Amino acid sequence: MAKTLLVTGGSRGIGAAVARHAAADGYDVALTYADDSAAARSVVDEIEAAGRRAVALRADVAREADVVAVFAALDDFFGAPDAVVLNAGITGSFARVDELDIAMLERVLAVNVTGAFLCAREAVRRMSTAHGGRGGAIAFVSSRAASLGSPGEYVHYAASKGAVNTLTIGLAKEVAREGVRVNAIAPGLIATEIHARAGRPERLGRIAAAVPMERAGTADEVAAAILWIVSPAASYVTGAILDVGGGR
Ligand code: NAP
Repeated sequence: MAKTLLVTGGSRGIGAAVARHAAADGYDVALTYADDSAAARSVVDEIEAAGRRAVALRADVAREADVVAVFAALDDFFGAPDAVVLNAGITGSFARVDELDIAMLERVLAVNVTGAFLCAREAVRRMSTAHGGRGGAIAFVSSRAASLGSPGEYVHYAASKGAVNTLTIGLAKEVAREGVRVNAIAPGLIATEIHARAGRPERLGRIAAAVPMERAGTADEVAAAILWIVSPAASYVTGAILDVGGGR
């Protein structure tokens, strides 16, 4: 039986790269998306063309009913997943703390923090040997922003990723003896649409100069690290937060 991987926010950017890399590594892939069904469809088409099974599921990870429905659909399609990559995330708009709009803050925390908890809960219920599962690996997509703080840009987003790091550390210890490894990847500046969609298309070029490697990373470079950390090659790695930031 093929191994299976679920990636949230797999229609674009880092999540789409994870979906493609997973298929190349022999996984059947379930991916979720929020709005862009055409982008999700095109990733599914690519995976099927590569000879693997794929399914796209629409879900807002901040909504409990959506997350429960995604995992129920996954049960029907593939059974319990071997790997779950919790990647869906948003920055919200750029604002200092003294300019914060509370609706925007609540939305960022709902998607990035509540969404990560909801998806992790459903994943553990299927993977943990304490729940009759056969084990597996969970990878959160955090951010270097959690450590850098992102002053003047989005401290709210950085703080949401700090919560993801804490979730990684705590959950890893909670399920370590239940066959489930839990880690996070913390990307630095990565060339995806997230910057332009937050209204700052020039951000990539501006910040790249401050990266020791003097360039933004690619979604493929992040996906390669994620596929490694969920693979058996990382069998003794749990509770880790792996920076993929070009030295920044
Ligand atoms: P992206 O290109 O904007 O893609 C975001 C993906 O998440 C899309 O598939 C989107 O679906 C989905 N999504 C957005 N809101 C969602 C929601 N409420 N429920 C479910 N799915 C949702 O972003 P990216 O740059 O690849 O970022 C992916 C992850 O990496 C995020 O967690 C981000 O914080 C993190 N990260 C990114 C960078 C960077 O520089 N790019 C750096 C550090 C960390 P639709 O296509 O339907 O909109």
